Amino acid sequence: MTLPLPHPALAATDPELAGLVAAEEQLQAETLRLIPSENYVSRAVLEASGTVLQNKYSEGYPGRRYYEGQQNIDQVERLAIARAKALFGVEHANVQPYSGSPANLAVYLAFADPGDTVMGMALPMGGHLTHGWGVSATGTWFRGVQYGVRHDTGLIDFDEVRELALKERPKLIFCGGTALPRTIDFAAFAEIARESGAVLVADVAHIAGLIAGGAHPSPVPHADVISTTTHKTLRGPRGAMLMSREEHAKAIDKAVFPGLQGGPHNQTTAAIAVALHEAAQPSFRTYAQSVVANAKALAEELLARGFDLVSGGTDNHLILMDLTPKDVPGKVAAKALDRAGIVVNYNTVPYDPRKPFDPSGVRIGTPSLTSRGLGTQHMAAVADWIDRGVTAAGTGDEDALGDIRSEVAELMAAFPAPGLSA
Ligand SMILES: *Cc1c(COP(=O)(O)O)cnc(C)c1O
Repeated sequence: MTLPLPHPALAATDPELAGLVAAEEQLQAETLRLIPSENYVSRAVLEASGTVLQNKYSEGYPGRRYYEGQQNIDQVERLAIARAKALFGVEHANVQPYSGSPANLAVYLAFADPGDTVMGMALPMGGHLTHGWGVSATGTWFRGVQYGVRHDTGLIDFDEVRELALKERPKLIFCGGTALPRTIDFAAFAEIARESGAVLVADVAHIAGLIAGGAHPSPVPHADVISTTTHKTLRGPRGAMLMSREEHAKAIDKAVFPGLQGGPHNQTTAAIAVALHEAAQPSFRTYAQSVVANAKALAEELLARGFDLVSGGTDNHLILMDLTPKDVPGKVAAKALDRAGIVVNYNTVPYDPRKPFDPSGVRIGTPSLTSRGLGTQHMAAVADWIDRGVTAAGTGDEDALGDIRSEVAELMAAFPAPGLSA
């Protein structure tokens, strides 16, 4: 049993809220968190995001602010920018976007006009809402055309992407997504963007940490713009960055502020700087390689237990399972696994015959368990729990789910989570 992190002032002022925070900490400690977009930040990142930098307004950019008193804030932001540039090898970095979605919106503002055609991967194929999908502002203010993956392989068909791009002539082409288990071929996208006169945006939100750690090819120099969140595999605070060559620096900065946002969240900028410092250490390279090794090992163990994986496996941190052969809907499986202490999310699979809020698949990832120190030797146990959990979901065996929950908690107790109390 872990003791909650001390928050004495919070506990005194608002015990109700403090209780919820403590309960969340316990949940994160006891469960096996397999949502591929989540992670555990370090105590240092947690501390930086809870500092007095919270109190400061700093609209503008370092050296060009609309408020005085920037003696320290300018240095904080300059540090974050310098570390982003060094880590990813880019000429320009903007660390102010509030999160991944506003970062992408800033890209539209910088390079397109409302009504323009934009191209991205369809959401049900693994793309992101902000890549021009209908229910998103990006799909209503812009004309989104969408590519997918091949039915037989689960892989992107570049002939189809090229054909669509040449026919539709989009202003922007987005590559990257939220449920893509395979390596993104940035060079292939860049060639198509060049042929069709589009700006190529590599949205590496999910894989930024893998790129930083050398476990996935870099979109530099292929992409015109790189958009990323900072809170997924990069293991920083909830935030985002936009990176590019110098030629696009002005357009991007202007779009973020004053185009879209007001004052930057300086406490987040500080925590991003800390996360980038951590990601530049040799231990983070080891982490990134281990995330992928664990995902590959887990995929093998799941295949051995008869699970159907989209594209047949994984190259990165993420596995997309189609549960159709198991005859258990994704949502039923996800909710049962949650009761078993295994946190996943239900997800569409390509060409899913079911509805998005009740799809056929489950999406799992290894960033969080790797942060806790689990290795390839543990993946058979993880696959076993998933297998037993999905079976119990089908038969409604709540006792079996309870048993798994105890076993999971026991293993997790031996692998304290970074950032949480040991
Ligand atoms: C997570 C994600 C985003 C959005 O990030 P938020 O911080 O949730 O707004 C954008 N694009 C991709 C590919 C993502 O995975």
